[in-house]
Amino acid sequence: MDTVELQSRRLVSGMRPTGRLHLGHYHGVLKNWIALQHEYDCFFFVADWHAFFTHYEDSIIIRESIWNMVIDWLAVGIEPSAVSLFLQSKVPEHAELHLLLSAITPMSWLERVPTYKDQQEKLKEKDLSTYGFLGYPLLQSADILIYRAGQVPVGEDQVVHVELTREVARRFNHIYGREKDFEDKAQSAIKRMSKKNIKLYIQLRTAYQEQGDVEALDIAKELLKSQQNLALGDSERLFGYLEGGGKVILPEPQAILTRASKMPGLDGQKMSNSYGNTIALREPEDSLADKIKRMPTDTNRIRRSDPGDPDRCSVWQLHEIYSTEDQKAWVQEGCRTAKIGCLNCKGSLIDVVAATLRPIRKQAEELSQHPEDIRRIIEDGNDAARAVAQETLIEVRAAMGLDYK
Ligand code: SF4
Repeated sequence: MDTVELQSRRLVSGMRPTGRLHLGHYHGVLKNWIALQHEYDCFFFVADWHAFFTHYEDSIIIRESIWNMVIDWLAVGIEPSAVSLFLQSKVPEHAELHLLLSAITPMSWLERVPTYKDQQEKLKEKDLSTYGFLGYPLLQSADILIYRAGQVPVGEDQVVHVELTREVARRFNHIYGREKDFEDKAQSAIKRMSKKNIKLYIQLRTAYQEQGDVEALDIAKELLKSQQNLALGDSERLFGYLEGGGKVILPEPQAILTRASKMPGLDGQKMSNSYGNTIALREPEDSLADKIKRMPTDTNRIRRSDPGDPDRCSVWQLHEIYSTEDQKAWVQEGCRTAKIGCLNCKGSLIDVVAATLRPIRKQAEELSQHPEDIRRIIEDGNDAARAVAQETLIEVRAAMGLDYK
């Protein structure tokens, strides 16, 4: 049975299948997933519906990218035995919750999400003035709330989406958390704790409700989380009762702020498929060498004998990520004194990036030989995700009065 403790350890994150994964994805998302996979109960999904919102006119890329994306996840070290990996569109409960939440979400909440306008600006070649695109942050909220996940790993620019999710959950609980006999049920739930904990819970609730003591509220929440004997429904009531509201049906998730990725592309801009400046996770070695050799360098270094400045060069930005301290010192000194040429400098970078990518590419090639294993991993993940999502929807429909036969 689900418990509040279990929910708070649940973590959800997705990735859009819109092309081959590259080093930007690795440093920006996958390294965080690898670090979190044994710490939380992780649900990682292929966000194919999210990809469709921006690629509805050329959806073939989604179909082509899905399985390669999963192979890349596994090749870098995501462990299917430790996490649930699934395909968003195979868990249709995401869509149902999205639809139900759309009934209670004010338009203005979606219009003010900064990434809505940013993305429209950035992807000018696409017509994103659609109803679906406006609602995509709400689908993200449904992606999280359908698992009643406690944790969502995000970069700073995505915190606003978690905040929206929290507001939507709060609004939902406010409207639908009011059972007719809520007070009676909350009182019965209190009695299921030990005498000592009943006393403490009542004291902390009074301190919060009468004096606004936020610390008392936090202690009371921790107390409830530690109550293994309480059924989930009773826990949800007591969480709501603490704050003077109703039952908490959709808990508010917390954002886990992940380290921002500064992965520069081949041209010094952020690495992105839409800028054509990527190094793929499975980049063949000859193509890797060719791409790095063609990278622009410090434009003031015209002749081999001219000293250069690594701070004006995108090759240096990659050295900073991949090279050892000794190599970095060699580049800094050699460039500034013209002791090394750009070809030497790029050659050393090619070696170190190639060495990093070799095991990933090898692992991906092996995994590609067994497509049936990859499909089985995703089918198992779909089943695990659906089991949790269906439980949530049963409660959501009941709370909304939509559980008629
Ligand atoms: S030596 Fe290296 S860091 Fe300096 S300009 Fe050439 S490529 Fe850039």
